[in-house]
Amino acid sequence: MRLMLLGPPGAGKGTQAESISKQFNIPHISTGDIFRQNIKNGTELGHKAQEFMNKGLLVPDELVVDLVKDRLSQEDCQNGFLIDGFPRTIPQADALDRELNNMGINLDRVINIQVDREILIERAVGRRVCKQCGAAYHIKFNPPKAEGICDKCGGELEQRKDDLEATVAKRIEVYLEQTEPLIAYYSRKGIIQNIDGTQEIKTVFNSILEGLRG
Ligand code: ADP
Ligand code: ADP
Ligand code: ZN
Repeated sequence: MRLMLLGPPGAGKGTQAESISKQFNIPHISTGDIFRQNIKNGTELGHKAQEFMNKGLLVPDELVVDLVKDRLSQEDCQNGFLIDGFPRTIPQADALDRELNNMGINLDRVINIQVDREILIERAVGRRVCKQCGAAYHIKFNPPKAEGICDKCGGELEQRKDDLEATVAKRIEVYLEQTEPLIAYYSRKGIIQNIDGTQEIKTVFNSILEGLRG
C-alpha cells in the first residue's frame, strides 16, 4: 500500500499515521519529523530548516525533495509507505510524480483529512510532543496518563516552537496558499479520499480504513 496524508497543520495527520503505519506494516515518512530530528542532532540541514519552521514558513523545495527521494529508495519502502507532510507545493508534487514514475510505481491513495480553522488552532496550540520518541498528545483531546510524561516511552512532553497561536495561524495561511491546491491536483488523478477529521481519533481511523477498502 502506497499512501499519502494531506491536510492542514493540526488536522491529525501524525496521529492517524501512527495507526495506519501499524495496520499495514508500512513505514511512516514525515518530513516534519525528519527536520525536527535534524534540528535535534544539530545537522546543517536542521540549521537551515529551523529558521523557516520557527516562522511558520515552508522549508524551500530544494531542501526537501532529495531527502524524500532518498528515503523512498530505502529497503523498508519496497512494500509500501505512508508519506505525511510531503508534498506541500505543486513543484514538490511534480518532483514526486517524476520520481515514482522512475521507480515504476504509483500512489494508491491520498487521504485528505478535513478540519475547520478554529478547531485546527485549538488542536495545534494544545499539542504536546514527546522529546524522546515524537509521539503527539493533546492536553484536552488526547492527554497522556500522567501529565507531561509520554505513555509510550516515559519521555518528557514539550510544546513545539511552531505551535504558538500566531505561528499556527501563519502555517494555516501558508497551507491554504501553497498546499491546498494539491487537493485538486490529486483529485484529477482520481486517488483522493476525503475524510471528516473533526470526528474522534478512533472514528477518523475507522473512516480511513473503510475508505481504503472501498
Ligand atoms: P498534524 O500531524 O496534522 O499536524 P497531529 O496528529 O499532530 O496533527 O494532531 C494535532 C493535535 O490534535 C495533537 O495534539 C493531537 O493529539 C490532536 N488530535 C489529533 N486528532 C484528533 C481528533 N480526531 N480529535 C481531537 N484531537 C485530535
Ligand atoms: P504540521 O503538519 O503540523 O504542519 P509538520 O511536522 O508536517 O507539521 O511540519 C512542520 C514544519 O516543517 C512545516 O511548517 C514546514 O516549515 C516544515 N516542513 C515539513 N514538511 C515540509 C515540506 N514537505 N516542504 C516544506 N516544508 C516542510
Ligand atoms: Zn515518547
